[in-house]
Amino acid sequence: AREDALAAGSKDNLRSPICCILGHVDTGKTKLLDKIRQTNVQEGEAGGITQQIGATYFPVEAIKMKTAVLNQDEKQEFKVPGLLIIDTPGHESFTNLRSRGSSLCNIAILVVDIMHGLEQQTLESLRLLRDRKTPFIVALNKIDRIYGWEATPDGAFQESLAKQKRSVQREFEDRVQKTILAFAEQGLNSVLYYENKNFARNVSLVPTSAITGEGVPDMIMLLVNLTQQRMSDRLMYLSELECTVLEVKVVEGLGTTIDVVLSNGVLREGDKIVVCGLNGPIVTQVRALLTPQPLRELRIKSSYVHHKQVKAALGVKIVAPDLDKAIAGSRLLVVGPDDDEDNLRDEVMSDLTTLMNAVDKSGRGVCVQASTLGSLEALLDFLKTSKIPVSGINIGPVHKKDVMRAATMLERARELACILCFDVPVDKDAERLAEEMGIRLFTADIIYHLFDAFTAYNAEILEAKRRDAAPMAVWPCRLKIIACFCKRDPIILGVDILDGTLRVGTPLCVVKNDPTTGAKEIIELGKITSLEINHKSMELVKKAQAGGGVAVKIEHAVYQSAKMFGRHFDEKDEVYSRVSRQSIDVLKSSFKADVSNEEWLLIKALKTRLDIQ
Ligand code: GDP
Repeated sequence: AREDALAAGSKDNLRSPICCILGHVDTGKTKLLDKIRQTNVQEGEAGGITQQIGATYFPVEAIKMKTAVLNQDEKQEFKVPGLLIIDTPGHESFTNLRSRGSSLCNIAILVVDIMHGLEQQTLESLRLLRDRKTPFIVALNKIDRIYGWEATPDGAFQESLAKQKRSVQREFEDRVQKTILAFAEQGLNSVLYYENKNFARNVSLVPTSAITGEGVPDMIMLLVNLTQQRMSDRLMYLSELECTVLEVKVVEGLGTTIDVVLSNGVLREGDKIVVCGLNGPIVTQVRALLTPQPLRELRIKSSYVHHKQVKAALGVKIVAPDLDKAIAGSRLLVVGPDDDEDNLRDEVMSDLTTLMNAVDKSGRGVCVQASTLGSLEALLDFLKTSKIPVSGINIGPVHKKDVMRAATMLERARELACILCFDVPVDKDAERLAEEMGIRLFTADIIYHLFDAFTAYNAEILEAKRRDAAPMAVWPCRLKIIACFCKRDPIILGVDILDGTLRVGTPLCVVKNDPTTGAKEIIELGKITSLEINHKSMELVKKAQAGGGVAVKIEHAVYQSAKMFGRHFDEKDEVYSRVSRQSIDVLKSSFKADVSNEEWLLIKALKTRLDIQ
């Protein structure tokens, strides 16, 4: 611990930044990673690039070699000891690199295909990066696909561009402008990295080709410069441990292991560790710390190298008992001699309990299931901004019990009786049960797709509900009688609209006060069966359209007695929509968005007038 303490807290002794690659499918994320790693193959292990668990480590020597074309005068300073690049591109590893809701990824590469511009997953990655406040650069990949491009393998980008024909340069500039515009539409300033005067304000665009290697030196140099200039505070060694579980994996002969990224501090064989588990905190002891055997050592039987201790930043596999229920995305804590184990248990579980707070207190909402803590967190954030209530959360494959839980919503809010399954498999039995019960399961590995499918389904259900409810809905109106064309069976009146709108189907009434007792009597006239203005038949008449009056035909239902103009009511009476408690509830639950403020006010007035509680 002493040597750690000495090393800690100095800007001259930085740890390696951690870098993730994100972007839309097929933009070249994997190919770019391969290209960066290629030194490994060409130069053996001279550069010292090492394959770790879930990550590749680039020591500064390898970075220097990779960026030599940009540093011919050797003026570039290197303060970081290296760069740790996470091997699995995409949102999963990014979202799992987390600690207390913030990201352990120090810098990200967002890959955009220069021929396609911003795509759906680009936008999703962008949102994740913003939510976690992670600095990033944009690799504008596949520049070699610009028509007529002449490659300079592994070249520095600007030199390569200078050699292109004028028409090629023009097309490149054109595509860059389009990308800048598309980013601007997302509220983001972006600029070619070598024209970027303000790294805090503008995102840097680095043109690359993962095939020819052009621009790759620029990209690596930019990562180094940005991390050492702008975030040296975050790269200082801490004596405190910072470690997160990227994957939970069963390995033959080793049982369930966890692949972790140690972003700060030191881990030792024998350490007592605490991680978040599906059924509560897991406390166990590190049996082995493993990284892969270097390529040239393949003749050695074991495929792993054992370590007595490892130091940040690196990716390492931990072998320990009782890890079956460990959750990817969980933090890992070490129980030190002065630590209270109970506190640490609570702390690791707080990651999951915090997410429980996203669950709607009323118990009304959709169920949500994701593969890891990180992806669950990202999905919940999204649902929160989209104002979709959540009633239950879970991690891992969808089983029958998850379907049963979602089923409690069938009676309360049918449109919410569903499970949004993000990147998780659905068990066959669960699928069958869901089908039987009418629980919708939405599965996707892109948040947007889940959201789109859910909103479409929601709209469909609401529409069906509205169709069913429409006969029960009563739209408010207040009318003045200006003529009577037929006194009874049917009653036909000429009216002026004082307030509200007239619709075919609306039941009408008048209110009489008994002259002796003063008691209110509501006289039901029947429903509007047709509306006419100047002999033209209408379904709906607004106040402004009414002009010289509307002819209203009113027919009573079989169970109502026929009323007569001149006997039960006359032109001195105002005529109202016959609203009721039920009709008001129907408007509220199915037509809320269609009722204007004035209409609500009128409903309120009618409620008083008709003595509705
Ligand atoms: P990922 O889904 O983002 O990991 O994309 P991949 O790395 O698998 O690449 C998708 C496809 O694009 C593959 O066929 C690659 O060979 C191709 N590709 C990737 N980068 C480039 C590039 O810079 N130029 C060209 N021409 N093709 C590329």
